Amino acid sequence: MCGISGIVHSENFGRSLLNSIKNLEYRGYDSCGVAVIQNGKIDLRKNIGGIDDVNLKERLDQMQGKIGIAHTRWATHGGVTQENAHPHLSANRKFAVVHNGIISNYQQLRERLLSEGVCFDSLTDTEVFVNLLEKSYTESNDLEQAFLAALQQIEGSFSIVMLSSHDPENLYCVKKESPLLLGLGEGCNYVGSDINAFLEYTRKAIVLDEGEYVILGPNEYQVRSLKTGKKLKKNVLHIDWDVETSKKGGFSHYMLKEIFDEPQTVRQAMQIPKEQIVALAEMFADSSRSYMMGVGTTYYVASISQYYFSALAECYYSALSSDEFSVVDIKQGDMVLAISQSGETYDTKTALVYAKECGAKTAAIVNVMGSAISMMADQVIMQGSGPEICVVSTKAALAQTFIMVRVALELGLIRRKIKQKDYKKFQNEMQEFSEIIEIVLNEQSGFVRNIARDTSHVEHWLFLGCGVYYPVAMESALKMKEVTYQHAEGMPAGFLKHGTLSMVESALHTLFFVPPPEQKELHKRTLIAMEQVKSRGGTVIAIIFQGDELAQKLAFQSINLPVVSSLFAPLLQMIIAQMFAYYAALDLGRNIDKPRNLGKSVTVG
Ligand code: GLU
Repeated sequence: MCGISGIVHSENFGRSLLNSIKNLEYRGYDSCGVAVIQNGKIDLRKNIGGIDDVNLKERLDQMQGKIGIAHTRWATHGGVTQENAHPHLSANRKFAVVHNGIISNYQQLRERLLSEGVCFDSLTDTEVFVNLLEKSYTESNDLEQAFLAALQQIEGSFSIVMLSSHDPENLYCVKKESPLLLGLGEGCNYVGSDINAFLEYTRKAIVLDEGEYVILGPNEYQVRSLKTGKKLKKNVLHIDWDVETSKKGGFSHYMLKEIFDEPQTVRQAMQIPKEQIVALAEMFADSSRSYMMGVGTTYYVASISQYYFSALAECYYSALSSDEFSVVDIKQGDMVLAISQSGETYDTKTALVYAKECGAKTAAIVNVMGSAISMMADQVIMQGSGPEICVVSTKAALAQTFIMVRVALELGLIRRKIKQKDYKKFQNEMQEFSEIIEIVLNEQSGFVRNIARDTSHVEHWLFLGCGVYYPVAMESALKMKEVTYQHAEGMPAGFLKHGTLSMVESALHTLFFVPPPEQKELHKRTLIAMEQVKSRGGTVIAIIFQGDELAQKLAFQSINLPVVSSLFAPLLQMIIAQMFAYYAALDLGRNIDKPRNLGKSVTVG
């Protein structure tokens, strides 16, 4: 979950190492550190806090050289302390490592090393490995052999990059379960836990596969299999992400920037070739049982999709949280779709492995090229949303939902549940949707901001909706919790009278996701619930569509959206709720792009 970066340069790499962990800070950010070789010795500086803070304390910007490694940590073993920050040094200070993941048998190894007289500075699992390296090197006097011998002793999930003063020309890297990529430059090479580590410097990348290790020099690299020791030929990818889209572009936070990227994200999702969308729809059509899974926001994307499949293709597929997936009885012939922004989400990856073991056909929607899930699934749709830096997912989630609407539409056609005429109409509406988002973002942001500011003190919210607006309410409540740290609970509006109404009083605020009046039944049911809250003195805020006077009368305050097709009404409300959470968090002074206790791609179990 952390960020790893390494550079080997034929000249001085200047500030590039520091810049690269800055670009990775969103992956983990409780502490960070850098190790470089200078005058034949390892210079290590690390501390707790964000990169700018640590730089001020430790002057990381002065750490230059030709070879170095860096890390931003998201602690799993050992608290957030200076000693526990990475890189970790071996006792003789000749080896330094950065590690992403968990060494599951570290306790036994640590006890063994302690009994052999090794002293530890930290409480991390990682420090065990660096001392195993030192021991192995004493035995073989060969760095590659020592690296392999130490690796043989550890279990768990890890990407590791090793720097040693015994070989100031090369970095030694390994990938198991946690992601690791190489970046190839001119007279310099890079290694990173994701593309952002080196996107500023090169567009040429190699994705490492399971069980591969690398010896990385400034002008050459060797990728080998851990199992056979054989040299492997790897594909070099050209990454076409725009560096600028990784940057904030004048917005105060990545979250807001990424919300404003949404029209473009939808355009990108529209560009995904139709054949790919149809192929996924056919997979659903051809399978005896199909499941959709994700975790956190992507679980809600799957839940929202259920309603689209039902409405457009008259099919019902279960949406499951990836962390619960292994309890499901999966059989040969079943089909499992995984949704993950990073393509590295641990729970989803694990569930996908389980699905494959059970003989299911697998598919995935992911945003990161070369990620583990994208390499694993039989069929993959790259959503092309560009880097999402804010920990809280906005544009990626919207694009995934949009893509699922496209899939549901194709399935509707395959199953002859929608007519050509309607299909065409929906396609046209899809083409226009990005413009509608643009209008809504520009026209509504001031208004949404005012309501969010007026209500930012509210500690308990109920987010309510009927039909597809119910999972939209759940996803929006998650957004609110993540970024404001206030309590928000999403539930079906019809649930109120079955228990939750007892909580209603003036301090309790509700946010209703009101469908357009043309969705008569859903609209009626939502308004009944609004009445129930209002008549008991609760505060009703509502996201409604223009001309809905009945809903407007019931609401204390309402956000009025332009009338759109009922196909896209839920997506538009999702965007408004993202903005609402953003502005509430802004008013509360929260750490919006990096909320406390969270990290971007959750690559640990
Ligand atoms: N398990 C290691 C630690 O706690 C690495 C965590 C990470 O991936 O940042 O230090």
